[in-house]
Amino acid sequence: MKIAVVGAGIVGVAIAHALLDDGHEVLILDREGPAFGPSRGNAGWMAHTDILPIASPKNLRNVPKFLLDPLGPLAIRPAYFPKLLPWLIRFLFAARPDAFERSVQGLGALQQRALPAWLKLAEATGVSNHIHRKGGLYVFTDRGAFTEAGEIAKRQAEFAITVDMIGREELRQFEPALKDRFVGAAFHPDTAHISDPLQLTLALFEAALARGATFEKAEVSTISMGERPALIGPNGWQRVVDRAVIAAGAWSKPLAAAMGDKVPLDTERGYNVSFPGRTGLTMRPIGFEGHGFVVTPLESGLRIGGAVEFGGLEAPPNHARTRVLYDKASGFIDGLPQFESGTLWMGFRPSLPDSLPVIGPSSRNRNVYYAFGHGHYGMTQSAVTGAIIADLVAGRAPPLALDPFSPTRF
Ligand SMILES: Cc1cc2nc3c(=O)[nH]c(=O)nc-3n(C[C@H](O)[C@H](O)[C@H](O)COP(=O)(O)OP(=O)(O)OC[C@H]3O[C@@H](n4cnc5c(N)ncnc54)[C@H](O)[C@@H]3O)c2cc1C
Repeated sequence: MKIAVVGAGIVGVAIAHALLDDGHEVLILDREGPAFGPSRGNAGWMAHTDILPIASPKNLRNVPKFLLDPLGPLAIRPAYFPKLLPWLIRFLFAARPDAFERSVQGLGALQQRALPAWLKLAEATGVSNHIHRKGGLYVFTDRGAFTEAGEIAKRQAEFAITVDMIGREELRQFEPALKDRFVGAAFHPDTAHISDPLQLTLALFEAALARGATFEKAEVSTISMGERPALIGPNGWQRVVDRAVIAAGAWSKPLAAAMGDKVPLDTERGYNVSFPGRTGLTMRPIGFEGHGFVVTPLESGLRIGGAVEFGGLEAPPNHARTRVLYDKASGFIDGLPQFESGTLWMGFRPSLPDSLPVIGPSSRNRNVYYAFGHGHYGMTQSAVTGAIIADLVAGRAPPLALDPFSPTRF
């Protein structure tokens, strides 16, 4: 079958490989080129051990405190508030205890399959050298939060995730560059991080072309409803295919709307600063619990980033946020390079209110599939998403129930 994948981010490129595995003719479309979106500059953490959605009873309690600080870990640009309101209302609903529990089950089931799917994809496509398996650390300055992490570890065990709670002294041996400010850490020994998100996406993209996929730089403005979907762009551009997959990240909403599905997709903007060539300061990715940032030792250089800002797809970045992240990091890590020597970046996490992506067929056209909205975990979940889409196209049963990822669940 001839199948078009709209979006050459990490999700679209992983889907392309899964479809090639089944012998399909794959056309990848992107209006910019490969890895234009957050697949270019994310934190590079295979964060499959995170199973708690952001909409949770606990986070809801913290939201007012966070919002009081305009440069804090969570912010809403005032002008964007009216547009965000419907999303926020769904977020509130998703944080109710029963809805939260359903999301944990959905997220956990997907995350549990994420790393095995990646290792298989990486080996098959010759990109295993981009994946480093040194585990990951979540470090705590607050004793109550550290104790609570011990409880969360029990929930993670339900999904076969190993977490070792380690004390202050052991942490110093793990990461000597950390200042002595932590009460302890949760070590996730099975977590991985990658060489660099852009390099990995490009390597996978090139591997797809080498396997016979074709690429066209084209904008898809809409998709027709017919049995054979027509992808339609500006100036009369059109491609008719047997199946289409929408994997356009934070820009997927209007394409799903053209298929009759009103999906509450928005974007959580995130920021980072990278220091090209600065390697070896930390050994593994580190998340600073309660402080809203992570530090990853990419092969391309150290990256410090995080924050969640609601401000839509058009507003320019506010790198005062990045400075705040850096300043916080320098209070926790010895030997950071000067902020001024870093490269600044902002990216658009494609986010649904319940922290779960949309994966599955359009409700009105079974020949068009959705694979977007992976939020904080798109790189992590890309390979398993590809495998699921290939199963659906082939009429095979996917390895997990897809109801939690339905476009009509809201
Ligand atoms: C600061 C930050 C840190 C992050 N850290 C991590 C992490 O450590 N681990 C992790 O797993 N995830 C992380 N993420 C999330 C992750 O980066 C995203 O979930 C993921 O990259 C989404 O990939 P995607 O392929 O769905 O979308 P994208 O990367 O956005 O790709 C979509 C592509 O579609 C193209 N496109 C859009 N509209 C159209 C159209 N109409 N026609 C044609 N082409 C179109 C775009 O040009 C783009 O190239 C982070 C994100 C941010 C912002």
